[in-house]
Order: sequence, then structure tokens, then C-alpha cells
Amino acid sequence: MSRRTKIIATIGPASESEPILRDLIRAGMDVARLGTAHSTLEENAERLTTIRRIAAEEGRTVGILVDLQGPKVRAANFGDDPVEFVEGASVQLRIGHLQSRAAVIEVDYEAFFRDVEPGGRMSIGDGRVILQMADREGDRISSTVLHGGVLSGRPGLHIPADRLSLSAPTPEDLRAVEFFLGYEVDMIALSFVRSADDVDRLGTDPHPHGPLVVTKIETAAALTDLSGIIEKSGAVMVARGDLGNECGIESLPVLQKQIIRQCIALGRPAITATQMFESMIGNPEPTRAEVSDVANAIWDGSSAVMLSGETAVGADPVKVVATMSRVAQHADEHFDHHGWSAELAESRLTDVADPNTSITDAMTVAAARAVDELGIRTIVCVSGSGFTVRSMARFRPSARILGYSADKRTVRQLSLSWGTEPFHLPEDGDVDLRVAEALDLARGQAGVEVGELVAVLVGTNPTSRATNELRLERIPEPS
Ligand code: PEP
Repeated sequence: MSRRTKIIATIGPASESEPILRDLIRAGMDVARLGTAHSTLEENAERLTTIRRIAAEEGRTVGILVDLQGPKVRAANFGDDPVEFVEGASVQLRIGHLQSRAAVIEVDYEAFFRDVEPGGRMSIGDGRVILQMADREGDRISSTVLHGGVLSGRPGLHIPADRLSLSAPTPEDLRAVEFFLGYEVDMIALSFVRSADDVDRLGTDPHPHGPLVVTKIETAAALTDLSGIIEKSGAVMVARGDLGNECGIESLPVLQKQIIRQCIALGRPAITATQMFESMIGNPEPTRAEVSDVANAIWDGSSAVMLSGETAVGADPVKVVATMSRVAQHADEHFDHHGWSAELAESRLTDVADPNTSITDAMTVAAARAVDELGIRTIVCVSGSGFTVRSMARFRPSARILGYSADKRTVRQLSLSWGTEPFHLPEDGDVDLRVAEALDLARGQAGVEVGELVAVLVGTNPTSRATNELRLERIPEPS
């Protein structure tokens, strides 16, 4: 069996060269994540264009996810070499954007002194270093290192979202969205969302005409309206770095499960992110605990697992993706498909914002049952926006899912959908012609055998997202 869970790899200085990008794609990168915090728009546009060209040369579908940095407060750059902070050392915090050092961290945020809690703790770089701050003195705050570690690049400083004056999306985020819409970007991740209104403010067209909006759950406020936020989103990221800062790291395993469950109920892919193979930034193997974390995230129901610094600045990004692929495939092979689908049949798609969901829900329940009862090995989904494919994928069937769409951006967006092999369907006309062509491509492109019984899910009304037809068909002889 091939791997079903998708892999997102963040592109950075360690992985942006053409040979490495090609090897990342060959090793199993399904989605490339471009962050706006550390690179200019033009640098990211160049990466996007190169990745798309290489993916086409390799005959692979690779989605592009642009991750907007949102109102994240960052330190000025630490320079070329990582800087060590030793427990008990004194560190000054001041506003600036030129250079951070071990003795003075410059914070690139004018309202820092207003938003920060005097006398509180400051977590830097997703908890790598924790400072105990004293009161403000003039243009600086003195602090002592409580928990030592190593910082590099431009690490984030955690200010609780309810104290932060800035909100998401920021004007810079909106400029980045405008810029990347010109490149038909596939997915956009929105950071530090606090409410469903934040998602609305992004103002993009709903996919497939616009990008799939991936909402990062990383504030305590977002947890108070989780389903409202997920309903407005195309997909969700469990952003464990900042979420751990906001809610306490001991809450993360439970929150991860709760957020993923809500995504499954609403038919949205969930991405589990941050520090999955953190030790591989420097080491050739992940720790045993990291391997278990990836497998458990998959068994929780993640559609995709994400690599951040591991592939952006790590010693061997290709090895990281290859290792992640091996670990994910093994976890996929031990996934309890039957138990999952039985449990899911009890719950319905619950998206109140979308009247089409109940029809799609009924059809995907029927397809899952047919697959189980008849031992069907392939599900062919013919979809406009990809919603049908994502709704089917939430059943985690052991059968292959072939996702067909006439919309090329939808095809690239399906790179995020669990277990889905995305294909472009040139035919966009009459439903019978679309199904006939999909069956023909399933044989020709995807290697499904002539005579094999497959389940076909399709919508007969091109203006509706609802999938209203399930057909059980045999793959025909080539005409
Ligand atoms: C996170 O906080 O876990 C996360 C994924 O966000 P970022 O990497 O942008 O800080």
C-alpha cells in the first residue's frame, strides 16, 4: 500500500535550490509551504514558479501553501550563527529591527512595551528560550533566562493574543494575498485567527475560484468558536507552537484531538504542525518520541503532517521528508479503517453554513458502505471544488481515492486531501461524458484494471457543490 497521509514541507534556505526541491518532490513532498516571515514576496514567487516547473517535469501534483505571518512579533535577526542563551544570564529586550545578540534582543514591534505584561514570562522561538521579565526601565526591559536554549534567524516572541493590539489579517498579509493571487496560489494559511470574522476579512473568493484558506488554530480565543471558524475555512492547521504558548503545552494532545475531530465532522482537512521531527534539524534520525507523535497524529485523523524548520533550515531536508514518508506510510498501513468508518457513519457532516452538505453526506455514507460491503478497491470522485473528495476522504477508506476535477487549481488543492490521488479531468461537460472520461483515465493514468468494480461519486448540477449521484461501475475496455 502506498502512503495516504500527505506531507507538507516548509521551503527555506536549506531547501530552495533546484536539486533539493526536485529531491524533496521525489522523496514525497505533497505540498510546499512558503512562509512570508523570512522571505520577500519576490523570493517566494520565484520559489513557487520553480516548484511548479519541477513538479510538472516530474509528473507530480504539488500544492503551494503560502503561510501569512499575521500579527507575529519577531526578534530582529540573530545573524548567521545560532546564539546560545544560558540559564540565569541577563538579557535586555528593546524595540529595534537591526540585530539581536545574546545580551540584547531587538523586538521588531513598536507597541511591544504596551502589549507585553510587565513582570511576566516571555517564550521565544516556540518555547526554545523562556525569559523572566522585570519591569520596564526607559527604552528597555531587563530579563533573566529561565529556560536556556539556542535561537537563530528571526524567532517569534509570544504575546498572548488577547493582549496583542494587532489582529489578523494584517495589512502586510492582505498585500501578500493580493500578490500571490496573481500566481493562482493554491492555499493560503492565516495565522493568529481569533474569530470567524478574521477569516472573512481575508476577502478571497471561495475556492476553487480562490485559494483554499487554511486557518491556523493557535490562539485561546479561536477555541471558543472553533466550529464557526472551521466552517469558514477550507482546511485547518493545528499550529502547536503558538497554541502551546497560549494554552499550556499539557493541553496540546487533547486540543489536537478535539480540533481534528471537529474538522472531520465538517469535512475539512486537518494539518498537524510543528516540531514533528525537530531533532532532525541537526540529527540524521528522529527521536522515538517524534516517530510516535507523527503516527499518533495520523491515527487522530490528520490529513497531513507538516515540517517547518526541519526542511527550511535543517541539515538534510530530503532525508527528513524521506523519513517522514516512511513513518507515515507505516502508520497508514496500521490505520483502523473499519473502526474509523463505523464510528463516522454515526456522525453526519454538520456544516450549517452549507446547505449542500446533507446531500453530499448521504452520498458519501452510501459510498463508504458500498466500498465495505462489496470490497471495492477504488473510489472515483468527480468534483468541481474538491468538496466531495474531501468529504469522502474523511471516511479514511482503505480503497484508493482518485480525485478528478476540471479545475486545475482544485487538482493542486487535492494535494492536501488525505489518501487522494489528484488528476486533471479535461472534460467539463455533461455528467455522463465526465464519468466516462474519469473511468477511462482511471484505467490509463491510475492503472485500475479493466473490469474492476469502482464507486463513482459525481454531482449532476455543475452550479451546486452537492454530490448527488453514486454509481457502481466496471472499468470499461479502452475504446
Ligand atoms: C505554529 O505556531 O505551530 C505554527 C505552525 O506557526 P508558525 O510556524 O508560523 O509560527
